[in-house]
Amino acid sequence: MPPIQRRKTPTVLIGNVRVGSDAPIVVQSMTNTDTADIPGTIRQVAALARAGSELVRVTVNSDAAAQAVPHIVEGLDKIGVVVPVIGDFHYNGHLLLKKYPACARSLAKYRINPGNVSIGKKDDENFRTMVEVAVENQKPVRIGVNWGSLDQQLLTRMMDENSRRADPLDAREVTMEAMVVSALNSAAIAEKYGLRADQIIISAKVSGVQDLLDVYRSLAARCSYALHLGLTEAGMGMKGVVASSAALAPLLMQGIGDTIRVSLTPAPNGDRTEEVLVAQQILQSLGLRSFAPQVTACPGCGRTTSTFFQEMAEQIQSYLRQSMPVWKEKYPGVEEMKLAVMGCVVNGPGESKHANIGISLPGTFEEPKAPVFVDGRLMTTLRGDHIVKEFIGILDEYVETRYGSGSALNKAEFATKA
Ligand code: SF4
Repeated sequence: MPPIQRRKTPTVLIGNVRVGSDAPIVVQSMTNTDTADIPGTIRQVAALARAGSELVRVTVNSDAAAQAVPHIVEGLDKIGVVVPVIGDFHYNGHLLLKKYPACARSLAKYRINPGNVSIGKKDDENFRTMVEVAVENQKPVRIGVNWGSLDQQLLTRMMDENSRRADPLDAREVTMEAMVVSALNSAAIAEKYGLRADQIIISAKVSGVQDLLDVYRSLAARCSYALHLGLTEAGMGMKGVVASSAALAPLLMQGIGDTIRVSLTPAPNGDRTEEVLVAQQILQSLGLRSFAPQVTACPGCGRTTSTFFQEMAEQIQSYLRQSMPVWKEKYPGVEEMKLAVMGCVVNGPGESKHANIGISLPGTFEEPKAPVFVDGRLMTTLRGDHIVKEFIGILDEYVETRYGSGSALNKAEFATKA
Protein backbone atom coordinates (compact mmCIF):
# COMPACT_ATOMS: atom_id res chain seq x y z
CA MET A 1 0.00 0.00 0.00
CA PRO A 2 1.54 3.39 -0.96
CA PRO A 3 2.19 5.67 2.03
CA ILE A 4 -0.45 8.30 2.77
CA GLN A 5 0.63 11.70 1.42
CA ARG A 6 0.01 14.30 4.10
CA ARG A 7 -1.26 17.69 3.06
CA LYS A 8 1.46 20.37 3.25
CA THR A 9 0.96 22.87 6.08
CA PRO A 10 3.11 25.20 8.15
CA THR A 11 4.46 23.47 11.27
CA VAL A 12 2.96 24.85 14.47
CA LEU A 13 4.96 24.55 17.68
CA ILE A 14 2.80 24.02 20.78
CA GLY A 15 5.13 23.92 23.76
CA ASN A 16 7.53 21.16 22.73
CA VAL A 17 5.08 19.46 20.35
CA ARG A 18 5.17 20.00 16.58
CA VAL A 19 1.87 19.92 14.70
CA GLY A 20 1.44 19.87 10.95
CA SER A 21 3.32 19.10 7.76
CA ASP A 22 5.64 16.14 8.29
CA ALA A 23 5.26 16.00 12.10
CA PRO A 24 3.48 12.87 13.37
CA ILE A 25 -0.28 13.33 13.71
CA VAL A 26 -0.73 14.47 17.30
CA VAL A 27 -3.24 12.94 19.73
CA GLN A 28 -4.98 15.34 22.05
CA SER A 29 -7.72 15.23 24.65
CA MET A 30 -9.60 17.44 27.07
CA THR A 31 -10.28 17.29 30.79
CA ASN A 32 -13.77 17.24 32.26
CA THR A 33 -12.79 18.43 35.72
CA ASP A 34 -13.61 21.87 37.08
CA THR A 35 -10.38 23.68 36.18
CA ALA A 36 -10.61 25.60 39.45
CA ASP A 37 -10.11 22.23 41.19
CA ILE A 38 -6.33 22.31 40.92
CA PRO A 39 -5.43 18.86 42.37
CA GLY A 40 -8.27 17.15 40.46
CA THR A 41 -7.28 18.78 37.18
CA ILE A 42 -3.60 17.97 37.68
CA ARG A 43 -4.56 14.33 38.31
CA GLN A 44 -6.66 14.12 35.16
CA VAL A 45 -4.19 15.95 32.91
CA ALA A 46 -1.46 13.61 34.19
CA ALA A 47 -3.63 10.53 33.55
CA LEU A 48 -4.41 11.69 30.01
CA ALA A 49 -0.76 12.49 29.32
CA ARG A 50 0.38 9.14 30.71
CA ALA A 51 -2.19 7.40 28.51
CA GLY A 52 -0.56 9.08 25.51
CA SER A 53 -2.31 12.41 25.06
CA GLU A 54 0.33 14.72 23.63
CA LEU A 55 -1.68 17.91 24.21
CA VAL A 56 -4.33 18.39 26.89
CA ARG A 57 -7.00 21.10 26.83
CA VAL A 58 -8.67 22.52 29.92
CA THR A 59 -11.65 24.81 29.97
CA VAL A 60 -10.90 28.36 31.15
CA ASN A 61 -14.34 29.69 31.81
CA SER A 62 -14.11 31.78 34.99
CA ASP A 63 -11.81 33.90 37.14
CA ALA A 64 -11.16 30.89 39.38
CA ALA A 65 -10.25 28.70 36.41
CA ALA A 66 -7.90 31.34 34.96
CA GLN A 67 -6.24 31.78 38.36
CA ALA A 68 -5.83 27.99 38.68
CA VAL A 69 -4.08 27.50 35.32
CA PRO A 70 -0.52 28.56 36.35
CA HIS A 71 -0.77 26.33 39.44
CA ILE A 72 -1.89 23.39 37.32
CA VAL A 73 1.02 23.85 34.91
CA GLU A 74 3.44 24.21 37.82
CA GLY A 75 1.96 21.16 39.59
CA LEU A 76 2.37 19.02 36.48
CA ASP A 77 5.95 20.14 36.18
CA LYS A 78 6.61 19.16 39.81
CA ILE A 79 5.40 15.60 39.23
CA GLY A 80 7.41 15.30 36.03
CA VAL A 81 4.50 15.39 33.58
CA VAL A 82 5.58 17.26 30.49
CA VAL A 83 2.54 18.04 28.36
CA PRO A 84 1.43 21.33 26.79
CA VAL A 85 -1.77 22.61 28.43
CA ILE A 86 -4.21 24.40 26.13
CA GLY A 87 -6.86 26.85 27.29
CA ASP A 88 -10.38 26.50 25.90
CA PHE A 89 -12.11 29.89 25.81
CA HIS A 90 -15.70 30.85 25.09
CA TYR A 91 -17.57 34.15 25.56
CA ASN A 92 -15.16 35.74 28.07
CA GLY A 93 -11.71 34.68 26.85
CA HIS A 94 -10.76 38.27 25.97
CA LEU A 95 -11.49 39.36 29.54
CA LEU A 96 -9.75 36.44 31.26
CA LEU A 97 -6.60 36.54 29.14
CA LYS A 98 -6.17 40.27 29.82
CA LYS A 99 -7.02 40.07 33.51
CA TYR A 100 -4.79 37.05 34.26
CA PRO A 101 -1.48 37.45 32.42
CA ALA A 102 0.03 34.50 34.33
CA CYS A 103 -2.70 32.30 32.84
CA ALA A 104 -1.95 33.66 29.36
CA ARG A 105 1.75 32.94 29.85
CA SER A 106 1.27 29.44 31.27
CA LEU A 107 -0.92 28.08 28.51
CA ALA A 108 0.77 26.58 25.47
CA LYS A 109 -2.05 27.50 23.08
CA TYR A 110 -5.44 29.23 23.15
CA ARG A 111 -8.54 27.77 21.57
CA ILE A 112 -10.82 30.54 20.36
CA ASN A 113 -14.38 29.90 19.22
CA PRO A 114 -15.17 32.68 16.73
CA GLY A 115 -18.89 31.88 17.06
CA ASN A 116 -19.16 33.13 20.61
CA VAL A 117 -16.24 35.47 21.16
CA SER A 118 -18.00 38.51 19.73
CA ILE A 119 -21.65 37.85 20.52
CA GLY A 120 -23.66 41.08 20.50
CA LYS A 121 -20.77 43.07 19.03
CA LYS A 122 -20.61 44.56 15.57
CA ASP A 123 -16.83 44.56 15.37
CA ASP A 124 -14.12 41.99 16.07
CA GLU A 125 -12.70 43.75 19.12
CA ASN A 126 -12.91 40.74 21.48
CA PHE A 127 -11.32 38.43 18.95
CA ARG A 128 -8.65 41.03 18.32
CA THR A 129 -7.90 41.26 22.05
CA MET A 130 -7.34 37.49 22.27
CA VAL A 131 -5.13 37.48 19.20
CA GLU A 132 -3.09 40.38 20.58
CA VAL A 133 -2.51 38.49 23.84
CA ALA A 134 -1.43 35.47 21.79
CA VAL A 135 0.98 37.64 19.76
CA GLU A 136 2.37 39.27 22.90
CA ASN A 137 3.02 35.87 24.49
CA GLN A 138 3.97 34.20 21.20
CA LYS A 139 1.33 31.48 21.63
CA PRO A 140 -0.38 29.67 18.80
CA VAL A 141 -4.17 29.62 18.62
CA ARG A 142 -6.74 27.17 17.37
CA ILE A 143 -9.66 28.79 15.67
CA GLY A 144 -12.29 26.26 16.59
CA VAL A 145 -15.59 26.63 14.80
CA ASN A 146 -18.34 24.39 16.11
CA TRP A 147 -21.68 24.06 14.41
CA GLY A 148 -23.46 24.20 17.76
CA SER A 149 -22.09 27.70 18.27
CA LEU A 150 -21.65 28.94 14.74
CA ASP A 151 -21.51 32.73 14.25
CA GLN A 152 -25.25 33.43 13.88
CA GLN A 153 -24.82 36.80 12.16
CA LEU A 154 -22.68 35.19 9.48
CA LEU A 155 -25.05 32.25 9.07
CA THR A 156 -28.11 34.53 8.78
CA ARG A 157 -26.37 36.70 6.20
CA MET A 158 -25.34 33.66 4.14
CA MET A 159 -28.83 32.16 4.36
CA ASP A 160 -30.28 35.46 3.10
CA GLU A 161 -27.80 35.60 0.23
CA ASN A 162 -28.57 32.00 -0.63
CA SER A 163 -32.32 32.67 -0.76
CA ARG A 164 -31.68 35.28 -3.45
CA ARG A 165 -29.79 32.85 -5.67
CA ALA A 166 -31.41 31.45 -8.80
CA ASP A 167 -30.46 27.96 -7.65
CA PRO A 168 -30.36 28.10 -3.82
CA LEU A 169 -28.39 25.49 -1.91
CA ASP A 170 -30.10 23.51 0.81
CA ALA A 171 -29.77 24.70 4.40
CA ARG A 172 -27.23 22.01 5.26
CA GLU A 173 -24.90 23.08 2.47
CA VAL A 174 -25.15 26.72 3.51
CA THR A 175 -24.39 25.81 7.13
CA MET A 176 -21.33 23.77 6.14
CA GLU A 177 -20.12 26.63 3.93
CA ALA A 178 -20.71 29.11 6.76
CA MET A 179 -18.45 27.03 9.01
CA VAL A 180 -15.65 27.08 6.48
CA VAL A 181 -16.10 30.82 5.84
CA SER A 182 -16.17 31.55 9.59
CA ALA A 183 -12.92 29.63 10.14
CA LEU A 184 -11.11 31.17 7.17
CA ASN A 185 -12.30 34.73 7.90
CA SER A 186 -11.17 34.40 11.51
CA ALA A 187 -7.78 33.05 10.45
CA ALA A 188 -7.34 35.98 8.06
CA ILE A 189 -8.22 38.43 10.85
CA ALA A 190 -5.79 36.66 13.20
CA GLU A 191 -3.03 37.11 10.63
CA LYS A 192 -4.01 40.75 10.15
CA TYR A 193 -3.54 41.31 13.90
CA GLY A 194 -0.12 39.73 13.97
CA LEU A 195 -0.26 35.93 14.20
CA ARG A 196 1.77 34.01 11.64
CA ALA A 197 0.31 31.16 9.61
CA ASP A 198 2.50 28.77 11.59
CA GLN A 199 0.75 29.92 14.77
CA ILE A 200 -2.75 29.05 13.56
CA ILE A 201 -4.61 25.75 13.60
CA ILE A 202 -8.17 25.45 12.36
CA SER A 203 -10.99 23.12 13.29
CA ALA A 204 -14.60 23.03 12.16
CA LYS A 205 -16.41 20.41 14.16
CA VAL A 206 -19.79 18.90 13.45
CA SER A 207 -21.48 15.82 14.85
CA GLY A 208 -22.48 14.11 11.57
CA VAL A 209 -19.95 11.93 9.78
CA GLN A 210 -20.82 13.02 6.23
CA ASP A 211 -20.93 16.67 7.29
CA LEU A 212 -17.47 16.39 8.81
CA LEU A 213 -16.06 14.89 5.63
CA ASP A 214 -17.56 17.70 3.53
CA VAL A 215 -16.38 20.50 5.81
CA TYR A 216 -12.82 19.28 6.16
CA ARG A 217 -12.40 18.46 2.46
CA SER A 218 -13.52 21.99 1.71
CA LEU A 219 -11.19 23.49 4.33
CA ALA A 220 -8.25 21.41 3.11
CA ALA A 221 -8.82 22.58 -0.46
CA ARG A 222 -9.09 26.25 0.48
CA CYS A 223 -6.26 26.84 2.96
CA SER A 224 -2.92 25.49 4.04
CA TYR A 225 -3.34 25.93 7.81
CA ALA A 226 -2.74 22.90 10.01
CA LEU A 227 -6.05 21.19 10.81
CA HIS A 228 -7.36 19.73 14.04
CA LEU A 229 -9.81 16.90 13.35
CA GLY A 230 -12.57 15.62 15.53
CA LEU A 231 -16.20 14.61 15.40
CA THR A 232 -17.84 16.68 18.08
CA GLU A 233 -20.28 15.09 20.51
CA ALA A 234 -19.45 11.64 19.14
CA GLY A 235 -21.39 10.04 21.98
CA MET A 236 -20.89 7.17 24.38
CA GLY A 237 -19.28 3.77 24.09
CA MET A 238 -19.43 1.83 20.86
CA LYS A 239 -21.46 4.53 19.05
CA GLY A 240 -18.84 7.18 19.76
CA VAL A 241 -15.94 4.93 18.83
CA VAL A 242 -17.49 3.78 15.56
CA ALA A 243 -18.71 7.24 14.51
CA SER A 244 -15.33 8.83 15.27
CA SER A 245 -13.47 6.11 13.38
CA ALA A 246 -15.83 6.36 10.41
CA ALA A 247 -15.40 10.14 10.30
CA LEU A 248 -11.68 10.46 10.89
CA ALA A 249 -10.38 7.53 8.84
CA PRO A 250 -11.35 8.75 5.32
CA LEU A 251 -9.90 12.20 6.02
CA LEU A 252 -6.68 10.86 7.52
CA MET A 253 -6.26 8.50 4.59
CA GLN A 254 -6.59 11.51 2.27
CA GLY A 255 -3.74 13.16 4.17
CA ILE A 256 -6.10 15.63 5.92
CA GLY A 257 -5.60 16.20 9.64
CA ASP A 258 -2.57 17.13 11.74
CA THR A 259 -3.92 16.58 15.22
CA ILE A 260 -6.97 14.60 16.34
CA ARG A 261 -9.29 14.29 19.27
CA VAL A 262 -11.93 11.63 19.83
CA SER A 263 -14.72 13.27 21.84
CA LEU A 264 -16.22 10.34 23.74
CA THR A 265 -18.75 10.81 26.49
CA PRO A 266 -17.44 8.68 29.36
CA ALA A 267 -19.83 6.48 31.33
CA PRO A 268 -20.56 7.88 34.83
CA ASN A 269 -17.26 7.49 36.74
CA GLY A 270 -15.81 6.04 33.53
CA ASP A 271 -12.23 6.43 32.44
CA ARG A 272 -11.52 9.66 30.56
CA THR A 273 -8.36 8.17 29.05
CA GLU A 274 -10.43 5.90 26.78
CA GLU A 275 -10.64 8.69 24.21
CA VAL A 276 -6.85 8.80 24.02
CA LEU A 277 -6.58 5.05 23.41
CA VAL A 278 -9.25 5.20 20.70
CA ALA A 279 -7.44 8.07 18.94
CA GLN A 280 -4.18 6.11 19.08
CA GLN A 281 -5.88 3.00 17.75
CA ILE A 282 -7.37 4.91 14.81
CA LEU A 283 -3.93 6.21 13.84
CA GLN A 284 -2.25 2.84 14.33
CA SER A 285 -4.95 0.95 12.40
CA LEU A 286 -4.34 3.26 9.45
CA GLY A 287 -0.59 2.70 9.67
CA LEU A 288 0.00 6.38 10.45
CA ARG A 289 1.64 5.93 13.84
CA SER A 290 2.59 3.12 16.22
CA PHE A 291 1.80 3.34 19.92
CA ALA A 292 1.61 -0.24 21.21
CA PRO A 293 2.14 -3.76 19.91
CA GLN A 294 -0.89 -4.99 18.02
CA VAL A 295 -2.52 -8.35 18.62
CA THR A 296 -4.21 -10.01 15.68
CA ALA A 297 -6.78 -12.45 17.00
CA CYS A 298 -9.24 -14.43 14.91
CA PRO A 299 -12.92 -14.01 15.77
CA GLY A 300 -13.28 -17.67 16.74
CA CYS A 301 -15.91 -19.98 15.29
CA GLY A 302 -17.37 -23.44 15.78
CA ARG A 303 -13.86 -24.88 15.75
CA THR A 304 -13.11 -23.20 19.10
CA THR A 305 -15.84 -24.24 21.49
CA SER A 306 -13.97 -23.33 24.69
CA THR A 307 -13.28 -19.80 25.93
CA PHE A 308 -9.59 -20.56 26.41
CA PHE A 309 -8.63 -18.85 23.19
CA GLN A 310 -10.53 -15.62 23.99
CA GLU A 311 -9.09 -15.62 27.52
CA MET A 312 -5.57 -16.02 26.17
CA ALA A 313 -6.00 -13.17 23.69
CA GLU A 314 -7.30 -10.98 26.52
CA GLN A 315 -4.48 -11.97 28.90
CA ILE A 316 -1.84 -11.17 26.30
CA GLN A 317 -3.48 -7.84 25.46
CA SER A 318 -3.54 -6.92 29.19
CA TYR A 319 0.06 -8.00 29.59
CA LEU A 320 1.09 -5.75 26.71
CA ARG A 321 -0.85 -2.82 28.19
CA GLN A 322 0.77 -3.28 31.60
CA SER A 323 4.24 -3.70 30.14
CA MET A 324 4.20 -0.80 27.71
CA PRO A 325 5.02 2.05 30.14
CA VAL A 326 8.32 0.27 30.92
CA TRP A 327 8.86 -1.25 27.49
CA LYS A 328 8.53 2.00 25.58
CA GLU A 329 11.37 3.51 27.62
CA LYS A 330 13.54 0.42 27.55
CA TYR A 331 12.84 -1.06 24.13
CA PRO A 332 12.61 1.53 21.32
CA GLY A 333 10.55 0.26 18.40
CA VAL A 334 8.61 -2.29 20.48
CA GLU A 335 5.39 -0.42 19.65
CA GLU A 336 5.65 -1.77 16.12
CA MET A 337 5.69 -5.42 17.20
CA LYS A 338 2.84 -7.60 15.90
CA LEU A 339 1.41 -10.62 17.66
CA ALA A 340 -1.08 -13.20 16.46
CA VAL A 341 -3.28 -15.29 18.74
CA MET A 342 -5.32 -17.67 16.64
CA GLY A 343 -8.01 -20.14 17.54
CA CYS A 344 -7.01 -23.17 15.49
CA VAL A 345 -4.72 -24.44 12.76
CA VAL A 346 -6.95 -23.42 9.85
CA ASN A 347 -5.62 -19.85 9.68
CA GLY A 348 -3.39 -19.94 12.76
CA PRO A 349 0.02 -20.83 11.30
CA GLY A 350 -0.55 -18.64 8.22
CA GLU A 351 -1.45 -15.56 10.27
CA SER A 352 1.26 -16.35 12.83
CA LYS A 353 3.90 -16.31 10.12
CA HIS A 354 3.01 -12.69 9.29
CA ALA A 355 3.47 -11.60 12.92
CA ASN A 356 6.64 -11.15 14.95
CA ILE A 357 5.30 -13.80 17.30
CA GLY A 358 2.22 -15.91 16.73
CA ILE A 359 0.55 -18.78 18.50
CA SER A 360 -2.05 -21.09 17.12
CA LEU A 361 -4.15 -22.80 19.77
CA PRO A 362 -5.69 -26.21 19.39
CA GLY A 363 -9.26 -26.11 18.09
CA THR A 364 -11.92 -28.59 19.15
CA PHE A 365 -10.93 -32.17 18.25
CA GLU A 366 -7.39 -31.06 17.38
CA GLU A 367 -4.33 -32.48 19.09
CA PRO A 368 -3.74 -30.38 22.29
CA LYS A 369 -0.67 -28.50 21.14
CA ALA A 370 0.06 -24.87 20.23
CA PRO A 371 2.76 -24.11 17.65
CA VAL A 372 4.59 -20.81 18.22
CA PHE A 373 6.07 -18.94 15.27
CA VAL A 374 8.77 -16.32 15.66
CA ASP A 375 9.57 -14.06 12.74
CA GLY A 376 7.85 -16.44 10.37
CA ARG A 377 9.50 -19.65 11.56
CA LEU A 378 8.21 -22.39 13.81
CA MET A 379 10.11 -21.91 17.06
CA THR A 380 8.48 -24.37 19.43
CA THR A 381 5.25 -26.17 20.19
CA LEU A 382 3.67 -25.61 23.61
CA ARG A 383 1.56 -28.22 25.41
CA GLY A 384 -0.10 -28.62 28.80
CA ASP A 385 -1.64 -26.26 31.34
CA HIS A 386 0.90 -23.42 31.21
CA ILE A 387 0.69 -22.32 27.60
CA VAL A 388 -0.06 -18.65 28.43
CA LYS A 389 2.77 -18.36 30.93
CA GLU A 390 5.24 -20.03 28.59
CA PHE A 391 4.12 -17.88 25.66
CA ILE A 392 4.60 -14.72 27.72
CA GLY A 393 8.09 -15.98 28.63
CA ILE A 394 8.89 -16.32 24.91
CA LEU A 395 7.42 -12.86 24.31
CA ASP A 396 9.58 -11.26 27.04
CA GLU A 397 12.70 -12.90 25.68
CA TYR A 398 11.85 -11.79 22.13
CA VAL A 399 11.33 -8.19 23.24
CA GLU A 400 14.65 -8.14 25.10
CA THR A 401 16.47 -9.75 22.22
CA ARG A 402 14.91 -7.78 19.40
CA TYR A 403 14.50 -4.34 20.98
CA GLY A 404 16.89 -4.29 23.97
CA SER A 405 19.98 -2.12 23.63
CA GLY A 406 22.49 -4.64 24.92
CA SER A 407 21.58 -7.57 22.72
CA ALA A 408 23.44 -8.43 19.57
CA LEU A 409 21.15 -11.31 18.71
CA ASN A 410 19.32 -10.99 15.45
CA LYS A 411 15.93 -12.42 14.56
CA ALA A 412 17.28 -15.67 13.14
CA GLU A 413 19.47 -16.30 16.15
CA PHE A 414 16.49 -15.87 18.45
CA ALA A 415 14.37 -18.21 16.38
CA THR A 416 16.98 -20.95 16.60
CA LYS A 417 17.50 -20.62 20.37
CA ALA A 418 14.68 -22.96 21.34
S1 SF4 B 1 -8.55 -19.51 12.85
FE1 SF4 B 1 -9.77 -21.36 13.31
S2 SF4 B 1 -10.95 -20.82 15.12
FE2 SF4 B 1 -10.22 -18.89 14.28
S3 SF4 B 1 -11.92 -18.25 12.98
FE3 SF4 B 1 -10.46 -19.33 11.67
S4 SF4 B 1 -11.24 -21.45 11.61
FE4 SF4 B 1 -12.25 -20.42 13.34
